[in-house]
Amino acid sequence: MTTEATCVLVINAGSSSLKYQLIDLAAERTLASGLVERIGENGAILTHTCGDERHAARDVPCASHQDAFALALDAFATHGPALADHPLLAVGHRVVHGGTRFSAPTLVTDELIAVVTELIPLAPLHNPPNLEGIKVAREVFPDTPQVAVFDTAFHQSIPDHAYTYAVPRTWREDLGVRRYGFHGTSHAYVSRAAAAALDRPAADVKLVVLHLGNGASASAVASGRCIDTSMGMTPLEGLVMGTRPGDLDPGLAGYLMTAGLSPQDYDRALNKESGLKGLTGSNDNRDVGAGVAAGEPDAILARGVTAYRIKKYVGAYAFALGGLDAVVFTAGAGENDAALRAQSLAGLEHFGIVVDPDRNVAPSRAARFISPDGAPVAVLVVPTDEELEIARQAAQVVAAG
Ligand code: ADP
Repeated sequence: MTTEATCVLVINAGSSSLKYQLIDLAAERTLASGLVERIGENGAILTHTCGDERHAARDVPCASHQDAFALALDAFATHGPALADHPLLAVGHRVVHGGTRFSAPTLVTDELIAVVTELIPLAPLHNPPNLEGIKVAREVFPDTPQVAVFDTAFHQSIPDHAYTYAVPRTWREDLGVRRYGFHGTSHAYVSRAAAAALDRPAADVKLVVLHLGNGASASAVASGRCIDTSMGMTPLEGLVMGTRPGDLDPGLAGYLMTAGLSPQDYDRALNKESGLKGLTGSNDNRDVGAGVAAGEPDAILARGVTAYRIKKYVGAYAFALGGLDAVVFTAGAGENDAALRAQSLAGLEHFGIVVDPDRNVAPSRAARFISPDGAPVAVLVVPTDEELEIARQAAQVVAAG
């Protein structure tokens, strides 16, 4: 039983979901985690895991994030651990868009809420539920510091030549059009963990980090600071993703809308029906891998497009960095898909980038090298942990007062 406050409750509130995790930072251990899905629909689903025990409830009435929070608190009371035994030093909130205003995690105040509200046009699907999560958590834990941790913050170090799009001044100055980048919490955590795996100070290393999940992004990190990232104004740019295409010719918008497509249908197609889904019918990278193994032409093409795009970004960022110590794979596909890793970096021996076939397929959940010993550029797999990073950052903000 803990009496000193060493725990952070991490909250990730989406449009119809609420994810939570109780992390004890003294032991860097997750004590419980859970998910309320289908908020506002006809019967929500609650999953709560405490230790090895997983509890699920279906068809639970849940009209709002407030109801979802109440369900989570009930789950803690019923299935443990009792929150009273684990005093919170902070509640850490994932907030997707901090615009140019937030380059670091920040204590939640009325002023922060006003600024995040002003930023809603930049992230209309994400910032409103993130704000809702903050509002409810403040009501439930009025005496606990609340900290906002922004997906965009790690990328605020990107220099102007890399974040500026060559578009009209009014777009840039009046409408906020520029590269912001996302997945920053993961890129920050993984680049620090990669430097530790290399046994070198973060200040000494140049890294390309490849976060390959349902969403996917690459970042170039020098001395622990991000200097470029593949997601842009929105999370559509860059790598091929589950349902998003990544890089496109911007002329496509005019062409398709002149042909009669509405802006809403264009947006929906690029967010929900493109990427692996558009190429194969499935947004799941595992299905693509199975299709490649079975010799299916669509899957082989999709894998080829995905791996080639990753390779182009590795090359571009190695030049942007002016040198490269390691390529780092993370997130669902990056951590688990050896074939995708091998194909993405195939043929780069000339640049010192080699994937060792045995190390690549060796099963492991730990941070590991998949390049041969002594290779000029290390290739690493580093499991990401965005919740732990949010908890750590929230604790640092509280400690700093
Ligand atoms: P997110 O957090 O963005 O929703 P994840 O990081 O969980 O996503 O990654 C999801 C992706 O990882 C999916 O495309 C899934 O197919 C892929 N993935 C997960 N496990 C494996 C595996 N064993 N082999 C190949 N791909 C995998």
